[in-house]
Amino acid sequence: MKVAIIGAGLAGLRCGQLLQAAGVDVSWFEKSRAVAGRMSAKRLWGGHVDLGAQYFTARDPAFIQQVRQWQQAGLVAPWLGKVYRYQDNRLAASPDSELRYVGLPAMHAPLRAGLSNETIHLNCCITSLSYNGHWQLMSKDDRHFSGFDQVVLAIPPAQAHALLGMDTDLQHRLPSQVLLPCHAVAMQLSQSIRHEAAAVFVRQGPLSWVARHSSKPGRLTEHEQWVLHFTAEFTAQHLEASAADLARIAAEQLSEMMAEPIQVQDSYHHRWLYASVDNSSRQVGLLRSQHRPCMVMGDWSFGGRVENAWLAGQAAAEELLHG
Ligand code: FAD
Ligand code: NAD
Repeated sequence: MKVAIIGAGLAGLRCGQLLQAAGVDVSWFEKSRAVAGRMSAKRLWGGHVDLGAQYFTARDPAFIQQVRQWQQAGLVAPWLGKVYRYQDNRLAASPDSELRYVGLPAMHAPLRAGLSNETIHLNCCITSLSYNGHWQLMSKDDRHFSGFDQVVLAIPPAQAHALLGMDTDLQHRLPSQVLLPCHAVAMQLSQSIRHEAAAVFVRQGPLSWVARHSSKPGRLTEHEQWVLHFTAEFTAQHLEASAADLARIAAEQLSEMMAEPIQVQDSYHHRWLYASVDNSSRQVGLLRSQHRPCMVMGDWSFGGRVENAWLAGQAAAEELLHG
């Protein structure tokens, strides 16, 4: 069997690696210049800064086992920094018993380990699909790939929708508006913040999350770095906001929250159009075409977290091999 996987985030990679292990011929197609999707980190200030997923938790026994293996291989480590909550203009310690993991030295580390590059087509945005007994894939830069028995779309529903014109039944079963946007700002400070918080769940104002990036294990930085996420509501309302405005707002909020002045040396902005699952949307699981060998899945199939992406990739491979 020859399988094309569109999207090399955790879900697509996990699915393909399991298929490869079972002897399937797998090719990945990824529009970015590197794999990892929403677990990507940006090369910045002499290191990598996590702009998407900030950490992950493990609750499913199979994923717990996977995390244990990653940890033994030095690819992930627990992040034990102190967690706070900001609400009603108060910053209060908010400890819990959750074990949170991060990739070492960046979130993408466990995804990039042990990949065979020759089957991954990077900088390859698939813009159309056709099927005549086998699949043909066309890329934005007019490259054609053919001869696939099965195609797996491991991408957000809105992006899958655009590719599924030939299968309106499957297109209609895709959830709409399931992934909400998120502006992310990373900043390097001239001076460290005195407050001890490593991360803050923000419950007021335009931000939802604030993290002292340099408090994560393996991030050896000369200057302190922070990552701030805006709420989905704020991001949706200010989708075209400039990087400078967002950096200014983020810095003001951080300073107010920590009740101390901060000096930003440099900042970087990234807009995630499809970031977090809308909690009001129902979980749809794996979606399979009734007419063609085609499957659509991703973190959103099961809930919208790193663990859900891994479980979706695993379930997709099992379904294709044994379903
Ligand atoms: P993705 O990682 O989105 O992978 C899809 C891939 O498909 C991408 O690489 C994309 O470039 C590619 N692609 C899309 N369309 C095409 C196309 N047409 N052709 C080729 N390639 C294409 N989860 C947590 O558990 N903890 C967190 O703290 C956390 N924080 C987050 C913060 C932010 C800002 C964001 C954005 C996400 C966060 N998440 C978090 C969610 C987590 O990152 C995702 O659940 C997980 O990474 C999704 O993996 P995936 O493989 O399903 O999708
Ligand atoms: P988790 O168990 O640490 O947190 C789940 C949620 O519980 C948090 O979002 C927060 O609202 C709340 N929470 C947990 N511990 C808390 C504490 N000590 N004090 C106050 N609130 C607390 O993580 P998880 O279940 O693995 O979820 C993954 C995380 O990824 C979530 O925080 C989610 O919001 C975040 N995420 C963010 C985006 C984005 O676009 N910014 C996208 C996807 C996921």
